[in-house]
Amino acid sequence: MAIRYELIKTCKQSGARLGKIHTPHGVIETPIFMPVGTQATVKAMTPEELLNMEAQIILSNTYHLYLRPGHQLIKKAGGLHKFMNWHKPILTDSGGFQVFSLGDLRKITEEGVEFRSHLDGSKHFISPEKAVEIQTALGSDIMMAFDECPPYPADKEYVKKSLERTTRWAKRCKEAHTNTENQGLFGIIQGGMFEDLRRQSAEELLELDFPGYAVGGLSVGEPKPIMYEVLDYTAPLMPKDKPRYLMGVGSPDALIEGVIRGIDMFDCVLPTRIGRNGTAMTSRGKVVIKNASHTEAFEPLDPECDCYTCKTYSKAYLRHLFKANEILGLRLMTTHNLHFLIKMMEEVRQAIREDRLLDYRKSFFEKYGYDL
Ligand SMILES: [Zn+2]
Repeated sequence: MAIRYELIKTCKQSGARLGKIHTPHGVIETPIFMPVGTQATVKAMTPEELLNMEAQIILSNTYHLYLRPGHQLIKKAGGLHKFMNWHKPILTDSGGFQVFSLGDLRKITEEGVEFRSHLDGSKHFISPEKAVEIQTALGSDIMMAFDECPPYPADKEYVKKSLERTTRWAKRCKEAHTNTENQGLFGIIQGGMFEDLRRQSAEELLELDFPGYAVGGLSVGEPKPIMYEVLDYTAPLMPKDKPRYLMGVGSPDALIEGVIRGIDMFDCVLPTRIGRNGTAMTSRGKVVIKNASHTEAFEPLDPECDCYTCKTYSKAYLRHLFKANEILGLRLMTTHNLHFLIKMMEEVRQAIREDRLLDYRKSFFEKYGYDL
């Protein structure tokens, strides 16, 4: 088996899990935040910079890499790890989320999804088998089953039909997945905001015995209390001896709440995207660097942060870079935001180790607030 989860301990105060995921490209300590490198690059960061901030695994995107430069080209280059010079674990999504986000540009059938490229309008077809074929060519350590992620809100009848198709597609993905020694295939639990449907999806997918499971269809526009409620009843349905991955979640408050509910892995473009737009996550909440109040702020972005940006530059300088549209500004802000989340998850792991994650949550939120 390519992927193996090792539960180290459970926090006596919160029930959160401390663990390790063994992959063909090394061991990941969990709970973990995974930076997103959509187009085989975590935007504006070199792999060396990611290693310096102790990123353990990154995510990349099947849909984007299939369209450009093409999975066959990446295979020819020696696989995604070699192509992008990242030799630690990589997780690839199935492309389902992006394809379904295309709206009018796509058509769903039982066989798969026909869609038009957002790049040039060309016609394509992704089936469960194709999603596995692409991810096999990319050579990611963890690949995801091709699923449908229903929008929010969606009516119950539709969500039920959709999750049943997702189960059938998961079976087809499993049959198509042959490189089981080197790549693990995770199943994705759907079911929208309906407890009985989440249960049905989990039961059907657990029968297929994937080496890991994700919760999909959250962070799609629903209020956070609803997401937490869905996690409250979904996480306990997931196997204890396998990794649990909450897709598309990356705000600090939601990471902590997710871990408390038993989640091990998270990914999101949030820290890199808002960083490039000039917003930082800091121990004292959100900082919008272009604000005039930072004009003469000669102190670091976050006095508690030891990233390169905070050790070296002032808020006034960062603000100047953004006002002048200098590319270094994006790099420095991205560095800080990724470092912030990676460091926060390290603190979360330490708090679990010491059975005090609820205390950690309290002190974190007292300083941070809930504004992201
Ligand atoms: Zn920093």
